[in-house]
Amino acid sequence: PVRVRFAPSPTGPLHIGGVRTALFNYLFAKKHGGVFYLRIEDTDQNRFVPGAEAYIFEALDWLGIAPSETVGRNEKFGPYRQSERKDLYKQYADALIASGNAYYAFDTAEALDAHRKDHEAKGKTFIYNHHNREKLDNSLRLSAAEIEKRISSGEPYVVRFKTPVDQTLQLHDIIRGDIKFETNLLDDKVLFKSDGMPTYHLANIVDDHLMETSHVIRGEEWLPSMPLHVLLYRAFGWDAPEFAHLPLILKPIGNGKLSKRDGDKMGFPVFPLEWKSDEGLSSGYRENGYFPEAVVNFLALLGWNDGTDKELFSLDELVEAFDLNRVHKAGAKFDPEKNKWFNHQYLVKRDDTLLAKDFQQILIGKGIDKPLDYVTRVASLIKERAHFVSEFWDLGDYFFVAPTSYDEKAAKNWKDETAGLMSDLIDVLENVEDFSSANIETSVKAWMAANEIGMGKVMQPLRLSVVGALKGPHLFDIVEMIGKEDTIGRIKHAIA
Ligand code: GLU
Repeated sequence: PVRVRFAPSPTGPLHIGGVRTALFNYLFAKKHGGVFYLRIEDTDQNRFVPGAEAYIFEALDWLGIAPSETVGRNEKFGPYRQSERKDLYKQYADALIASGNAYYAFDTAEALDAHRKDHEAKGKTFIYNHHNREKLDNSLRLSAAEIEKRISSGEPYVVRFKTPVDQTLQLHDIIRGDIKFETNLLDDKVLFKSDGMPTYHLANIVDDHLMETSHVIRGEEWLPSMPLHVLLYRAFGWDAPEFAHLPLILKPIGNGKLSKRDGDKMGFPVFPLEWKSDEGLSSGYRENGYFPEAVVNFLALLGWNDGTDKELFSLDELVEAFDLNRVHKAGAKFDPEKNKWFNHQYLVKRDDTLLAKDFQQILIGKGIDKPLDYVTRVASLIKERAHFVSEFWDLGDYFFVAPTSYDEKAAKNWKDETAGLMSDLIDVLENVEDFSSANIETSVKAWMAANEIGMGKVMQPLRLSVVGALKGPHLFDIVEMIGKEDTIGRIKHAIA
């Protein structure tokens, strides 16, 4: 059965790339009727950031892709927080030592640094593996009694993996196909430290095994760890899960990985939700007025498509269409403008009442209290032009307040005769009984026809009077909305 996981380290807010990883895991699980679970990888106490874990859960909940097993939820394979599984890992490190796949090392940070510098001076890279093991301070050259003595005297140590020599690993990745790795180029990575904490590599493999993970779907930055991980599974005698490494998300302009700085520079968020820290406030998609459906949609297309030109997918449609074999190898360019377009698509499709409820919050902030059905009507008239509800005010403020200034360029068309025409128009409007858009239009057009007045001579000044600029939806719809009294008041103000 398919069991996949998202395994974030709570070291800060979840980056949009992390969210994409979570989404692809979610889609893959649902597609195959499997389980999507979330494990918190918090063994590195130095990098722990308060609030980061809660942020991760809130972000996934907001996007509608919450895991079905995790901390506090359906803890079948729990605990799901590695810090709470701490006591579990030592026995696995011990087992690898016993089987000859790992060893103790006592090298101090200074000693390792000196070795590194020494190598660099000779133009070589220092790799802690069979090339150097003999010269370093580890148990491979110490007697059992000596090791025992040093450990029991409290000397700090680490447990390192004993990378096999001279092997070419032929590994398979669902997205990248077959990849070769030379073990001679791999470091003997640290698996466990004498403070009782495992490193990421050990904890990750032990937990993926114990939690019965079938597929590891994660970012490309973990590809270099794949050979070590496969070697660890082999050393334990466990079946390895299948691997799929997702392509990088690239900057909108230029090359390289998308970073927070690109977002700051170009004014778009790289986080799903806003994040406050000592370094300031980082904006989030949610607070910027994005709909979660739109974010899910644009993230899904970062490195994947269904083989057609189709771009708009609901979450259900994504589950239906998703296929890891169709994920691209090449990096996916992040396109903030296109993301706005996605939001526009969802905004237009969205129920007008829901849009109006959000817009009402903005209006209340401006001291404007209008009934929901009025605001709903406004939303339906202006949403075609908006990417976000936050743009509604600029697009439709005239539905709520009379213009205080007039677009200069448009005002130039206000001729000497215009004031007279507008006064006559007021009389026409006064006489419209049932003040509906269609009735107003019929009456105004009849008056214009009878007096042979050209369209532009009336319609443009009327729009300018009511809206303040030559913009907005069908003019008579606006006039109906703001009502007879207000319309006439605005025309009078414009004449004066
Ligand atoms: N804890 C790792 C991270 O923060 C997980 C990597 C993996 O999925 O194996 O990304």
